[in-house]
Amino acid sequence: MNCPHCGAALVIDQLKQVKYCPYCGAEIEIKEETPETVAGAIHGIAKTFFNQTADKIRYNRDHAAEIAEQKRREKDEEAKRTRKIMVGMFAAMGVVMVVMMVVMRLIGE
Ligand SMILES: [Zn+2]
Repeated sequence: MNCPHCGAALVIDQLKQVKYCPYCGAEIEIKEETPETVAGAIHGIAKTFFNQTADKIRYNRDHAAEIAEQKRREKDEEAKRTRKIMVGMFAAMGVVMVVMMVVMRLIGE
């Protein structure tokens, strides 16, 4: 099939399911699904998926130290938050105990 505009041979874009002209950029929708276009679309999607997965794996491998550092930092933040809450609770308990002691002394006298 050739481009209706410039006559150049069309190229199939498997993901977008169109034929396009590499010269003038015209896109012609593929009307009927032939085994070729269906297989092409499936292949294209699978290829994209595997490329993305491979990219992710590569990213994780290349940034392993960074990711580990990030996780460690998040854990530190969590521990800090927990410590703050604990300190706050102990402080509140201390205040309550002091108040109770004062009240008991006042009642006792
Ligand atoms: Zn063209």
